[in-house]
Order: sequence, then structure tokens, then C-alpha cells
Amino acid sequence: MTLYTARKVYNPLATKLGAGRPTSGHLIRFSLVGDAGGSAAQRDSHFSIYGDDPDIAAISQFPDAAWDPAQPDVGAMHGITWITMADLHHDATGHEPIAAVVCVGDVVFLNITLSSTIKHIVRLDGEDLNGVTVLVMSLLNHFPTLREVCWADDVTRAGRDRADWSTITNKCKIRDVTMVFGGQRYDQSIPGDELALGALGLVGGSDDPNRRRRMTGKRLMKYKAGGAALAERQMPYGWCHKKDKHGRSVQEGNRGLVPEAQPEMAAVYASLYQAHADDETYQDITARLAAYEAEGLIVRRDHTDLDNTFARTLGDDNASYGAAKSFFCRSDSNPRVIPSDLDIARYLEGEDPAEVFDADVRFFIAKVELVRTGRYFRRLNNDIRGRNIVLDGIPATYRDDLDEYGYFDVISAPWEWPTDDQGNEIPRFGVPDRVCRQVAARLLRELRAPKAPTGGQAHHAPTRRALQCFTSWLTAPGTLGAKYDDEATQWGVQARVNNSGRANLVLLFRRQSAGEGSRYERGWSYFGSGETKPDHIDATFSLTELEASVAHHLDRGVQQLLDPSSIAHLTEAQHRSDDPDPTATWRHQITLKLSDKKPLEDEAKGHRTMAAISAGAGDEAEARAYATQAAEVAAKVVALDADIARLEAKISKHESGTPSLRHDRADVSVAVHLVAGLESAARNNGESPAKFGTLCDETFIDWRFHVDGEDVVWSCTALLPLATGGHAQLPLTGRIRNVRARTGKSLATTDTVVRYLFEEGRDLTATADLLQVTRETLLKKRVMPWLVANGVTARGAKCALVDHPIPEVRRELHRWVTRAADGSTQPSTSAYTERLRSTYTDPDLSWGDAAVPDDTAWIADAIRLLTADTATRRHGLPVLDVALALGKSEHEIRELVKPQRRSAGFTRPVYLAYANQAKTHVKAVPCPHGRCRGRRFAAHVSLLPEVAASGYGVICSHCRRTPAQDGAWPVTQFPSAYLGRWTSTGGSGSLREAPRTIRSPR
Ligand SMILES: [Zn+2]
Repeated sequence: MTLYTARKVYNPLATKLGAGRPTSGHLIRFSLVGDAGGSAAQRDSHFSIYGDDPDIAAISQFPDAAWDPAQPDVGAMHGITWITMADLHHDATGHEPIAAVVCVGDVVFLNITLSSTIKHIVRLDGEDLNGVTVLVMSLLNHFPTLREVCWADDVTRAGRDRADWSTITNKCKIRDVTMVFGGQRYDQSIPGDELALGALGLVGGSDDPNRRRRMTGKRLMKYKAGGAALAERQMPYGWCHKKDKHGRSVQEGNRGLVPEAQPEMAAVYASLYQAHADDETYQDITARLAAYEAEGLIVRRDHTDLDNTFARTLGDDNASYGAAKSFFCRSDSNPRVIPSDLDIARYLEGEDPAEVFDADVRFFIAKVELVRTGRYFRRLNNDIRGRNIVLDGIPATYRDDLDEYGYFDVISAPWEWPTDDQGNEIPRFGVPDRVCRQVAARLLRELRAPKAPTGGQAHHAPTRRALQCFTSWLTAPGTLGAKYDDEATQWGVQARVNNSGRANLVLLFRRQSAGEGSRYERGWSYFGSGETKPDHIDATFSLTELEASVAHHLDRGVQQLLDPSSIAHLTEAQHRSDDPDPTATWRHQITLKLSDKKPLEDEAKGHRTMAAISAGAGDEAEARAYATQAAEVAAKVVALDADIARLEAKISKHESGTPSLRHDRADVSVAVHLVAGLESAARNNGESPAKFGTLCDETFIDWRFHVDGEDVVWSCTALLPLATGGHAQLPLTGRIRNVRARTGKSLATTDTVVRYLFEEGRDLTATADLLQVTRETLLKKRVMPWLVANGVTARGAKCALVDHPIPEVRRELHRWVTRAADGSTQPSTSAYTERLRSTYTDPDLSWGDAAVPDDTAWIADAIRLLTADTATRRHGLPVLDVALALGKSEHEIRELVKPQRRSAGFTRPVYLAYANQAKTHVKAVPCPHGRCRGRRFAAHVSLLPEVAASGYGVICSHCRRTPAQDGAWPVTQFPSAYLGRWTSTGGSGSLREAPRTIRSPR
């Protein structure tokens, strides 16, 4: 009797593996014998990957105790058999359980706890054996039915020793068994898969620090000495490998492959760098690249798709953006700290980047600096584990305390610039130093500004433009916005960043036929044959102004929704004849995401292929880098899938929504969130958290823009979720500046300023920020002249209006001014609005230089003291007591009752009353009106001109009237906004610099 079966499996093991006919082998391995926790974690991750297989799903239901070698009886109940070392081989010893095996359906599942590197089995007649390898080989031999072997994740679970690894892969190849790692299948009958598998084996191979040190050191030396040390296709544009006359790459001493500049690229560089420095869009730059490509001056270098061309990306905004961007900078590294404007300015002024920027930033702009200086700032990831490694005199940099590898930063010896026909060097490919610096500066600014090419790219960035999802639209001939008589005009909106880094948008148009591509709509870089972009820009406008305007109009729109009398407004919107279908936008977004996904999948595949090629060439570091990139790209694909699934769910939810909306209510909290988020984005150069941006994409649909005089009129539909599901459609429209219509950096027109400050009621600082001017400029050049022209002439009235803490006051002023101007019928006015008008148009109004010109906080304290309880309210307190309590003089307290007449400045109003004939006590002023009489007091301080006109600086917080009883005062009720508390900033200072009226601390 022999010790082994005919299939070369040791008899005791063969018995334990059993007589099943599984087609799928599953292996999990944890290197520590008896570590139940580690083993369980491995099992869980395996089950999560392969859980779709019903047999694996069944195995995943086993209790943990079943896998406990100390409780073999529990395992046995589930069909688990324990294997010991002695079961593996006749030379093996040890009766501790090292693996559990179970057959369920078509699956044989092996749970191993053994190291894959230790040679467990000491043999006298040959190489010592690793227990895992013996077990895997035995499994493959024992079950001829196996079609696949699956591991949870990387190959280190399969085997870390190179010889063992090839034993297993060879066996699988001969047997035509597919190897599966983390769900990724490798069928070795396909050459690419075999190569990739080889690469994986190298990655998983055991560490060999000496070999790595040699390899890394050699590469570092090549970097330093100015060698290429890269495949030609991965080199920066403008250089290729130096070749001999037979076209073979030349190796030169310690430099290895040598870079050689391509003279024909001088023209390309000169044109592209100038265009980039001039702020041309990346799409337009790609159009230039495609033209040079057609002339044979440049060949696209895309290591993920060797056949890719620049021409192929035309018409696809995202692809052409990426194509052009990769000409200027590395796409895979963003500096962790973005340089400040000051640093960028210093660099632009000619300072050495080594003095100004950190290594991350220099690495980011390395391509531009290579062109500018001929020296390439390169980074080599270190493969030698351990801290404080120094190679060739260069110390490794470590990312943090936990980083065991780090990287080396090297500035190379000069790469040659090209030479002209006479053999003269063309420094910087003919690009001026200044232009190079402008290119790098733009790249750095774009790190902060949104990168979005048209809109949709920045899915994975933490912030993005809050509003960026503008789909194209058409206008028929003869309708508003039509540019052509013979066919429809197509309109689109494209993101721009101006030189100062401000986020802008441009409104573009073209013939409908110019937008039709062969498969998709063309991108906005093509305007018809012979047409150039500048002729097709109808308007340029500020993203922040748009966001502020949308916030304002959404806020007002929702306030009207809350007004019960305007519910009809909402429901009417439901039945507009040209009702946009919101699902169309979402479907469009799905299409965009699907088209984003395809190149990512290709890219991941390309990275895997490159990993295999690099590994084949013996470069483990590069192979590993590519493997990492493949994983990162795969993660992006997963994120896109999640977005798509969410949008699909939204569509189906919308379609199942109830059509009867008459008694429905919009979810106003969403609108409030949107208003706040848009206002915040408007203060942040248009940027918001990416999540908020997604909400905006889905809320604001059906955008339209058209130019009207010096303005751009925008409109869109806001989809507000309804309490019962589905969405209400709230049409919005507003007006912002067309900055294109205004030459240079001139100031916004009076109309714009008046609209922002008065019609929409923003405060002066917010208006100045939106228009990028100072408060002083706005006041002097626009606001004050307009006020005077419209009948607000008193100095105090002008100051109080621009400083007024209640936006409605400015809006009301605007209403009456424009009403008078367009001569329309006077709608009903209230005593309050009449009061506003008469106060602010009074040419003799005597008031301070602010809305609230005095410190009122202490007066509010005094009144609080006097209304503390019923007895005090009725009898008041001694003047002296009040003065002492507040740290004021008796005179100051008495002045609150009887203000001093003044020859200059304004006379302060009355806040308190005497409580007795002897005038020894003061009390709050009783409210004399209606049901308040005898019960309530005018105890709310309000030092505003329209209130003080009554002679009092207080109103009753119940009926919101002043205690005055003459004229229209008993019927003048102030809006509830007047219950806010404001005081003066105090001290000196001018309205030109800052508001003078602030919220009162009390
Ligand atoms: Zn009252």
C-alpha cells in the first residue's frame, strides 16, 4: 500500500478532503495559527466578495464556533473537518489543527491558519515545503473537477514565496483553472491575464531590501543625472528617448535612457503656453493640440490607451479638458497645501520656486518648470522599508509618522532644450520665462478655483461650484434670444475662471446644426466651420452673483408659498403647458455619469496592463504604483455607480409620485437650506461642499439665460419636494450683470447697484463684495447720487437707509421710487409705508450718520430693570437707583425722559416716563393703544428714524406701535422685523468702511 493516492495526495489528507466533486475552490488564509479574530475577519471579507454564490452564502451562515478548532464537534455539525500538519505529508509533524475544510454544493471551502512563507515541512530528500502550498496543490490535485480557485483579496493570501507562487499558477494554467483574486478573474489562457498575474505575483513577493536598494538607488541616480528613466510614452511632451541611426534608444552611462528634445515641438510649446497663459479654455487648447497632431508635430502620449489621439476628444468637454491639462501638469498629484496668492505672486515676480513653494507644489508644476529651466523635479517612491533611509545622499521624505517607506525628491541635471536648423539652442522651446510662470500660476490658482470643465467633472472633489449643471437649450427663429433666421439657436453655459481666480460663466450660442456631433452633442469648443469662440460668447457673468441672485429669488418665492393666499401660485406652476420633466435632467445626469464611467474603466484596465508590463520589465516599484492607481480608479467607478443608482431611484420615485398636488405643501426646509447654502457659496467664490452641489443639480433645472441690455436675465425651475412625495415646481427668474458688456474693470451700473442694494434688499457690504468694489466707491459713485436723484436728500436719511438693518425698508423705498417712475397705479399703502416715505424724503430730517446712531444697549437694560415685576412697572424706580445700577449719571437717566434739544445733530427721542409728580422716579412708557392700555408698556427700544419721528425711541412689543397718540401714530404699526435689537458700533468710524449699526448684544 502506498502513502499517496493516484493524484499524489497524502492519504490522510485525501480522506479528509472527501469524495465531493466541487467546481469552485475557495481559500482564505490567515498567517497566525489559532488567531480566531484575524481568521474571522478574512472570512467576512471573503463572504462579502463572493456572497452572491448560494453555496458561499450558505457557508457564511455558519456560526463562528464552527470555525473554532477547540470545538470540533460544532464544526462537525456543519460538515467541517479539521486538518493537521501531519495530514499533509509523510515528513510533516504536528497534530494541531491548521485548516478547516468543508464541501457545500459546488464549493470546497478551505480555512487555513498558516504562514505562507515558513517552510513547515522539513524534507531530507528535497526542498523544504510550505504547508499552505502543499495544501493548495493537494486541493488542486484531489479535485479534478475544479474550474476556479478564489481568494479574498491579494495574492499574498495565495503565496508569498516566488517559487511556491509559480508552482500554484503553473498548476492552474496547466489544469485550465481560473484564479480569482478579490473577484477579479485571471484566465491564463488569455495572454494579458497571464502577464497581469505574473505582475501580481511580484507585488506579493517577499521583500528583498538589498535588491530593492540597488534598484531604487539606480533609478534615483538616473533621475539625478538627467536620465529619462521612463518609457518614452510617459515622458513630458517635447522630449523623447535619444536614438541611434537605427532608431534604437541609446543608453548612456549612469543616465540610462537619455532625453532628447524635439525641435518641432518648439512651435507647439510657444503656442500652447501662450494660449494657456491667456486663459484659453482647456477645450480650446485641445483643439490646438489636435491641429498640431494633424500636422504630425505631436503624438498623444496616453499610457492607458495607446491609440488615443487629441482629435478623438474633440466635442467631449471632459475628455478634451483632461487631454489638454495633462500637457501642463501631472494629473495624479495635488499638493496638500495650496500656495497662497502672495506666494504665487512672488513666483510670478521671478523668485526661485525652491524659495517660495514646498516640495509638493514644485512637484505639481514640475512639467512647466522643466520647460522653463530644463531641470525636472521628480519624485521616486521609496521601496525600502524603514525610516531615515538615505540613498545617494538624498534622504527619504516621510508623509507622516506611520509612513515606513516615504519618497525621494530629486531635481535633475538639465535636460537639453531643442536646437534650431543652425544648431543653436532654443531655450525654453522659445517660450518666455514670464509666460512659463504665468502657466504655472494658472495651474496653481485652478487648484483653488473649480476645475469643472463644463460643469460635471468634479464628482470626487470635496468642494465644487454650487451651480454648475446647465444643460443646453434651443431657441426657435423669431423667438426671444434667436440669433439666426434660418435655424434654431443652441445656447449653453460654460464655466470660466478669470485671471484673478474669480469664478465666471460664459453664455455661448451657435447654430443648432453646429452642435450636432456624429454620436453625441458636440462640446462647446466648436461653433461651426470657420467660426471662432469669441464671436459666440453672448455674455460673461459672475457665478457668485448668480448664486446670490438665485438665493434671493428662491427665498422670496418660498415666502410667497408660505402665504396662504398664494398657494395657487404653486399649483398653477404644476400645469404650465411647457412643464419641464425633471426626470429628463436626471436622465441626462445618468448619461453623463455613464460616459464618465467608461473611460475610468478603460483607465483601470490600462493601469493593470501597465503594471504587468512594468513588472515584466523588472520594475516592481512601478508595477506597484500602477496597481495602486488601478484600485483608486476602481473606487471612482464604484462612486459613479452609486450616484447612478441614486438618480435612478429618484426617477422611479418621481414617476410613482401622486399627481394630485392641490392640497400639498412644499418642504420649505429644503428651500431654507438651499438659500443658506447658495448665500454661503456666493461668499466663497461660488464653491460649496460637493454634496450641496448635487442637491442644487437636482433642484434647479431648465436653466435659461438671455442678455438684456447690460444685464443677463436668468430663469430656472426649482423642484421642491412635496410633503406627500413628488415635487412642486417653482419658477424663478432674476437679473445679474453681464460683465462682458462692460469694458475693463469698470464699476457696476447704478441699475445693478440699486437692484442688489434696494430692490433685493442686500446690505451694503454684501453688495460691495458681489460687485468687487469697496463700500466707499459704491456709496460715493452710485448709491448717494441715486438717493439724491430720487428725493432722499437729508444726510441722516441717506446714511440711515444704506445702514438700515431691515432689508424691507430699502425694498419699500425702491418700490415707491420705481412706482413713481413707471407711473403705474398706486397700490394701497399702509400708515407704516407712508411713515417711511415721509421720514426719508423729509429734506429737513435731522439724524445721525447711521441707522442707529447711539448706543442703545444700556437703555434696553434700563427698561428691563423697570419692567422686572408688576410693582416696578407700576411705580417705577428712583432715578438714582437706576443710575447706580447702570453706572450712569442721574442726568443721563433723566435725559431718557426729557431729551435735550440740540442745535446741531439730532434730538434724541423719549424712552422713559416719570413715575410721579415729583419726578424722583422713572418708569417704562405705558402703551396707550387699544387693548394694551393699562396693561402693557412700550418696552422695546428702537432707535430708527421712522420710529423716532414719533418723539419716542420705543415701541410696544405687543402691538408694535409707539406710544405717540397724535396724527397717524395710533394706526402706524411697525412690521415684526422691528422687534430686532440693534445698537451703534460706537466710537469713530465711517459708513464708508463698515456698517455702523450692529445687532445689540442685549
Ligand atoms: Zn401696545
